[in-house]
Amino acid sequence: MDYDVIIIGAGPAGLASGLYAGRARLKVLILEKLSCGGQVLLTEKIENYPGFSGEAASFDLMANMQKQVKDLGVDICTEQVVGIAKDGHLWYIKTDSKEYKAGAVIVAVGSVPKKLGLQKEELLTGKGISYCATCDGPLYRGKVVAVVGGGDTAVEEVLFLTRFADKVFLIHRRDRLRATEILSQRAKANKKIVFCWDSVIDKIVGEEKLEGLILENVKDKTKKELVCDGVFVYVGRSPDTQFLEDLAEVDEHGHIITDEHMRTGQAGLFAAGDCRKKILRQVVTAASDGAIAAFCAQQYLESLDEEK
Ligand code: NAP
Repeated sequence: MDYDVIIIGAGPAGLASGLYAGRARLKVLILEKLSCGGQVLLTEKIENYPGFSGEAASFDLMANMQKQVKDLGVDICTEQVVGIAKDGHLWYIKTDSKEYKAGAVIVAVGSVPKKLGLQKEELLTGKGISYCATCDGPLYRGKVVAVVGGGDTAVEEVLFLTRFADKVFLIHRRDRLRATEILSQRAKANKKIVFCWDSVIDKIVGEEKLEGLILENVKDKTKKELVCDGVFVYVGRSPDTQFLEDLAEVDEHGHIITDEHMRTGQAGLFAAGDCRKKILRQVVTAASDGAIAAFCAQQYLESLDEEK
């Protein structure tokens, strides 16, 4: 066996798992396909993580989590997991470059942004269509942009974009935001934000780059053109759990189903964070999941030792 526990994903859930498993003196590897920190790095400030009375810079928070884990001797490698399999009590984790053996696996892969599924969406991604305001927002200084979605992410990012753009349209398919009230109130008070309620994008306009959108009102079916330089899509996220194939039970959206011990139906396979079916997806709940998953993985490994 190469490792006691292999953790897939280095966002808040994976790093918290690494922290607890490392402190339990287990031999731990974290595999991350991109960079440590996860999707939370796409947001600039975190204002709802306990203990930060002002705002925590997401980069600092995640860099501290990473350091804490590394200081415990946990290995972190940049490799993409492409498949996992079980033989007896041993888990085989295949990445794009190696294969590892472990006693337990914690899946903490987070999620990826959902697409709208419209014609030209792929063609104009990077040419006016974006899924990351932190990355692309500064390109729209003095311009007009639109954001699609009504959840916390859409509203946080619409507020962020007002720092650069002259005008930001918020296109939402209902007449009420899903986002937390404190964020919704901030957006409604911002003069640069124009709400397009009960609206969906019917068509994307532009060939070489985005030139505008055709919006459809879902109630009266009327259409109107919205001229804009960029559109940021925030219509939710889906878990990136395909590599699990049929190993773990998932819900209709692909979220892994676990019990309160973060156990999947497979002994030794745990899930934590946003990829899990749960009621609240936040940094604090991801960290909590990670701690529980590591603790329960440790108990599972001890139970195997006792069997021997
Ligand atoms: P979300 O909460 O699932 O919201 C997605 C939004 O997109 C909803 O308003 C939804 O409309 C809309 N939508 C979905 N499919 C659509 C489509 N095909 N066309 C048009 N609109 C569509 O996703 P999220 O905002 O990315 O947040 C994900 C999770 O992270 C949530 O649990 C959220 O609370 C959490 N989060 C928290 C914070 C924070 O605490 N500061 C920040 C970011 C994210 P309906 O409302 O009509 O369903």
